[in-house]
Amino acid sequence: LPEYAFIGRSNVGKSSLINMLTSRKSLAKTSGRPGKTQLINHFLINKNWHLVDLPGYGYARVSKSAKKTFQKFITKYFDFREQLVSAFVLVDIRHTPQPVDLDFMAWLGEHGIPFSIVFTKADKLRPLAIEKHVEDYKNILLETWEDMPNYFITSSSKTIGKDDVLEYINTLNENMNLSSN
Ligand code: GDP
Repeated sequence: LPEYAFIGRSNVGKSSLINMLTSRKSLAKTSGRPGKTQLINHFLINKNWHLVDLPGYGYARVSKSAKKTFQKFITKYFDFREQLVSAFVLVDIRHTPQPVDLDFMAWLGEHGIPFSIVFTKADKLRPLAIEKHVEDYKNILLETWEDMPNYFITSSSKTIGKDDVLEYINTLNENMNLSSN
């Protein structure tokens, strides 16, 4: 089954977003690879795709070696990403573009991994501020990327952006079915 990986810095709102997207009812947690189940979780959604919950990166308060361990897990996942269609990189809409996120997006680009950006916690900013923060991101990304990646504005506490993300995933799934027939 096609899979979509969700990743971001710790505390970005990933668990909340995953809860919003899965609304728990449709949720079936499937076991990950043996021994790695605590770090990478797979959720089966609508019986036709997997949501992959990757560990948070960029912890401020962990040792360098712990950071390395997390990075290893994440790169290992992407090395074996046979079913991966796209990644979703979560960033907190309130923050200015952070090097750790930009570096991670650059890394995905270098490895040919498609991704979208999911701005989280949009309820914390007024619409004009949201626009400005997205614009700041665009300006920085367009220094290195030809186009602004696809992006979503979301809030898990106000249920904003849920349908946009799910419809996008469904469209990608349908396109894959079309091209394999
Ligand atoms: P994770 O560490 O990335 O999984 O982040 P969590 O989902 O656990 O959220 C981290 C903190 O941000 C928690 O205190 C959440 O209540 C809060 N949070 C997450 N999503 C939202 C949101 O959309 N709006 C607001 N206002 N707070 C959020």
